[in-house]
Order: sequence, then C-alpha cells, then structure tokens
Amino acid sequence: MCQLLIYDLICCHSSQKWDYCAESQTSGRIPCKHQTFKVVSYPTPAEFEPAPICHRSECHFNRLDGVWNCCWCGKTHNTTGRCSGGMMYYEYTTCDHICCPFCKRGDQGF
Ligand SMILES: [Zn+2]
Ligand SMILES: [Zn+2]
Ligand SMILES: [Zn+2]
Ligand SMILES: [Zn+2]
Repeated sequence: MCQLLIYDLICCHSSQKWDYCAESQTSGRIPCKHQTFKVVSYPTPAEFEPAPICHRSECHFNRLDGVWNCCWCGKTHNTTGRCSGGMMYYEYTTCDHICCPFCKRGDQGF
C-alpha cells in the first residue's frame, strides 16, 4: 500500500512525499491502486525523518534562514514558522504570526 505523507513543516507550510510500497517500486514509482495518506505534524517523528524541505518561493521563513524577528509583536529570534511571542490581549496569548514579507531576519547565536 502506498502512502502519501503530508508533512507539516517547521515554516507552517506543508509538503508531500510518497512512501512507495514494494509493488509500485518495481513498476517505476507510480503509486499503486491501494493508496492512503497520513498527515505528519511538526515536530517530525523519527520514523518519518527526514522531512522534505520547503521549496515554496514565497516561504519567508526559508528566505530569512530560519531565524526572524516578528513584525507584529517584536519578538526576536523566532526559529519556527509561527511566532512564539507572548501578548496581553484580554488574556495572555501567543502571537502566532506567521513569518511574512515585513518580518526581518534575526541574528543567529542569541
Ligand atoms: Zn502501493
Ligand atoms: Zn515554507
Ligand atoms: Zn509575534
Ligand atoms: Zn510579519
């Protein structure tokens, strides 16, 4: 049975990868009739490593080399696609801003 793995990536995009069964391996990497899919959420479990790399040209997280400062709340050195900064807004919440064109590159090593 072939399985389409849908990875949630660190940058908040998703990427797909086929896990081919023996039957389709021999027939030239075309998924067989018995297909299933699975969503692999981030962080990627060890058995699903390596996660594919995000190839989207609009991926700002990749463009900033994975370290960025949030343009919303000012949190610096985010290392995942979604801002982890805390905000007081009626109650304490996390910012959850996804890296966008207005966010700036963060410095590594802090
Ligand atoms: Zn198969
Ligand atoms: Zn991405
Ligand atoms: Zn933020
Ligand atoms: Zn932003």
